[in-house]
Amino acid sequence: MVAKLVILDRDGVINHDSAQFIKSPEEWKPIPGSLEAIARLKQHGYRVVVATNQSGVGRGLFDMDTLNRIHRKMHKAACELGGRIDAIFYCPHTADSKCDCRKPKPGMFRRIADTLNTDLKGVAAIGDSLRDLQAGAAAGCQPILVLTGKGEKTRDDGDLPAGTLIFANLAAATDHLLAQESKEKK
Ligand SMILES: [Mg+2]
Ligand SMILES: [Zn+2]
Repeated sequence: MVAKLVILDRDGVINHDSAQFIKSPEEWKPIPGSLEAIARLKQHGYRVVVATNQSGVGRGLFDMDTLNRIHRKMHKAACELGGRIDAIFYCPHTADSKCDCRKPKPGMFRRIADTLNTDLKGVAAIGDSLRDLQAGAAAGCQPILVLTGKGEKTRDDGDLPAGTLIFANLAAATDHLLAQESKEKK
């Protein structure tokens, strides 16, 4: 049985992305419907975990304290709508670092599996960039592309991992997951 867990990219999936990075809590703005989707997942017993590349830290664009404040805002916003983000995993390193956590490498996903003591096989890994899908697929997850953020460009560029599902946004991806779940119950 697939674990009741969803792994989300942050920028372009939960909140609007910016080419200039999200450098402050003020710049963090939810995509309409995304927090409600997180709340629905929680109501159906899913754990929601975020895995996000945040190379802005490594580049010195913002510090860890600021990243923590951004994440407090995200937690609070989810909570106000009845949702919960169970954990946030982030890679603070730059693209030229040799870390194992920056997506498309699957290091963060492995850490999620270890921390939650869960098998990731078939778990939905939802992102708007190719590297999100690649990291998820490498960890055995079901890659899901959403067309918010960079998603349309990612779709048009092609070369998606085999079996990638595509939905308009997190709300639509959540509809699919919950519909599939209720089908399996019958
Ligand atoms: Mg993204
Ligand atoms: Zn890293």
